[in-house]
Amino acid sequence: MEIKGMTIEKNQFQTEVSELLQLMIHSLYSNREIFLRELISNSSDAIDKYKFQALTDDSLDTKEDDFEIRLNTSSKEKSLTISDNGIGMSKEEVVKNIGTIAHSGTKEFLAKAQEIKQNPELIGQFGVGFYSAFMVADRVVLHTQKAGETAGTIWESDGKSEYTVEEKTREQGHGTSITIYLKEFDSKEEVPNFTEEWMIRQTVKKYSNFIAYPIRMKVMREEPELDSENKPIEGKTKSIVVDEVLNSQKALWLRPSSEIKEEEYKDFYRHLTHDWQEPQKTIHFKAEGTMEYTALAYIPSERPFNYNYRDSGYGLGLYVKRIFIMNDCEELIPSYLRFVRGLVDSNDLSLNVSREILQKDRQASAIRKSLTNKVLRTLADMQKNHRADYEKFWQNFGSTLKEGVPSEPSNQEKLLDLLLCQTANKEGWLSLGEYVDAMPAAQQAIYYITGEDLEQIRNSPYLERIKAKGYNVLLLADAVDEWVVNSAAKYKDKDFQSIAAKDLDLDTDEEKKAKENEKQEAKNELKHLMDTFQEHLKEDLESVKISDRLTESPVCLVSSGASAQMERIMDAMGQDTPKSKRIMEINHKHPLFKKMALAPKDTQKQWVEILYNQALLNEGSKVKDPLALTKNIANLMLSASERYQ
Ligand code: ADP
Repeated sequence: MEIKGMTIEKNQFQTEVSELLQLMIHSLYSNREIFLRELISNSSDAIDKYKFQALTDDSLDTKEDDFEIRLNTSSKEKSLTISDNGIGMSKEEVVKNIGTIAHSGTKEFLAKAQEIKQNPELIGQFGVGFYSAFMVADRVVLHTQKAGETAGTIWESDGKSEYTVEEKTREQGHGTSITIYLKEFDSKEEVPNFTEEWMIRQTVKKYSNFIAYPIRMKVMREEPELDSENKPIEGKTKSIVVDEVLNSQKALWLRPSSEIKEEEYKDFYRHLTHDWQEPQKTIHFKAEGTMEYTALAYIPSERPFNYNYRDSGYGLGLYVKRIFIMNDCEELIPSYLRFVRGLVDSNDLSLNVSREILQKDRQASAIRKSLTNKVLRTLADMQKNHRADYEKFWQNFGSTLKEGVPSEPSNQEKLLDLLLCQTANKEGWLSLGEYVDAMPAAQQAIYYITGEDLEQIRNSPYLERIKAKGYNVLLLADAVDEWVVNSAAKYKDKDFQSIAAKDLDLDTDEEKKAKENEKQEAKNELKHLMDTFQEHLKEDLESVKISDRLTESPVCLVSSGASAQMERIMDAMGQDTPKSKRIMEINHKHPLFKKMALAPKDTQKQWVEILYNQALLNEGSKVKDPLALTKNIANLMLSASERYQ
C-alpha cells in the first residue's frame, strides 16, 4: 500500500500545452509582468467561487475580512509566491486544469502564435492564464487544497515537457499558493526583477488595482529606534516588517450610485484621466437583463489638449468582472462620442477577449449600442433641463457629436434633436426644434448658409432678402456641417435648404406673378449690360441672371453643385474635385446697374471684373487675380478723383 503524501507522479504535458510553454519561455520578451495580473485574477476568481459555494454549504465559513491574496518574495531564493484562500483544487482538478488546455482563449493564443512572436506587446491582450508564469519562471510550484477536503496537492514543473503531482496537506487550509522561481536573465535583456518591492507594487497598481480583495505584501520599513522614554534616538533606525495592502480595491463603479459621494466620482475621474479639472457630467449605470455591465463614463469640462490629434486614442477602459483588460477600447463607443472617458465592466465578455475579437463580438456591439443610447439620453436631458451646461458642452464637443449625423443613420433623429446652431436673427444658440417652432407659417424649409467663419457668414449678402422676409437662417461654420445637412436632408419633415443654392425659392405664386413684370422690364432695360457680363465672364461662370435674392448688395454667386464651402473642404483634404461653375445673380434694383448700362464698354468690363471679385469675396472664396483687382480699383479711384480738380 502506498503511504499518502509519499507518492510522486510524473505526467507529460498535453502537446498543445508544451507548444504554448515553448512559446512563453523562448519567444516572448516584453510585457512579461502580465503573469502577475493573470495569477492574481485566478486567485480572485477562486475567492469568488469559495464565497459562492459557502452560500449553500454551511461547513464553509465566510468571514469577509479573511479573504486575501498574499504576495511573498524571497530574494535569497529569487522567488515570488502568490497565495489565496479561495476554493482551491482537488488533485483531479489540478491535473485537468493545469496540464491540458481546456479553455478557448489559450487555443486562440496558440493560433496567433506567429503574430504574437512578431508583436509581443499583443500578449497583454490575451488571457493566457496560469502558463504565463513560465514567462518569468524556471520552475513553478503550486500547492493547493480544495475547500472541504483535508488532502492537498503539490504540482511542480520546469515547463519543459513534464510535471509532477504529489499529495500534501496545506498548512493554511483551503486555497492555492503558487511559487515562481524566477529565471536568471541575461543582463542585456533588462528583465524586471519581480522580487523587488517597487516592481510588484507598480505592477499590481497598473493591472490589479481594482481587484475586490486585498492584495497584501509584507514589506520592510525603517523606523527610528526609541529610547526608554519612547523618544526617537537620533541616527538610529531599525527594520520592521509591516503588512501593506497594494491595491485600492475600490471598484467604485460597482457600488450603487446613491452611495457614492460627488467627491469620490471626481477623484476617480482624475485618477482615470489625469485631468486635473472636474468632469462636466458623470454617467454611472448598471445594465441588467440580457446583458450585464456597469459603465462609469464622464464628459470632461474642457477639451483635452490632445483632443482630435490624429494619433490620440479614444474609447473606454474595459474590465471584465473587475479585471482590467485594456485601455482605449474603441469598440465600446462610436467615434462621434470620443469625448466620453471612463470604463465599462462587463460580466459577459470573456477575460481572454482581444481587440480583434471585440470588433466582431455581439456582446461588445450590444454594449456600444446601449451605452450610446444612454449618453444621448443624458445629453438630451441636459439640453432640456440644464441649458447653460449643455451650451458649454456643445462648445467643447458639439462639432464631434455632429459627426454622428452622417456616420450613424440609426441615431440621426436623436442627434439632430441635440444639435445647436447660431442663427442669423439672434445671438446665441438655437436647437433645430426651436428653429422649426419659430418658423413663420409661410416658411417652407430650414434655411442655412455655410462658411468658414461665423462672423463672415453672419454679414453675408445672401441673408439680405431672406431676413427681410422674416425668416431665420442657420449659420453653419463647422467643417462637418455641410455633411450633416446633406446627409440628414430633412428635419421634422422640413427640407434643409442652402440659401446659396441656385434654386432658392422664397416667394408664393402670387408674389412671383407680381414680380414677373418688374423682372421682365429690368431684363429688357439691362439686356446689353447683361450680354457684357455674360461675354466677359463666360470662362468663369455658368450663367448670369437677374434675380431678387439680394436687397442691398449688387451681385452674388450661387452654386448648382457643390457649395463653395464644400469645395474648400475638399481642397483642404487634398481631394481633387472638379469645380462647379457658379451662377451670378444680379440685383436689378441696385442703382448701380442703370448707370452702368450707360457707361462705355471698356468701363463696363472693368466694373464687371470688380463686381465678380466682390462676389467671390462674399461667398468666402479667393479673388481670381489679386494684383489685377487692386490695379483695377486704383484706376477706378483715379477716375473718380478727377472731379476734385
Ligand atoms: P483560466 O483562468 O483562463 O481558466 P488558467 O490556465 O489560468 O485559465 O487556469 C485554469 C483553471 O485552473 C482555472 O479555470 C481554475 O479552475 C484553475 N485555477 C487556476 N488558478 C487557480 C487558483 N488560484 N485557485 C483555484 N483554481 C485555480
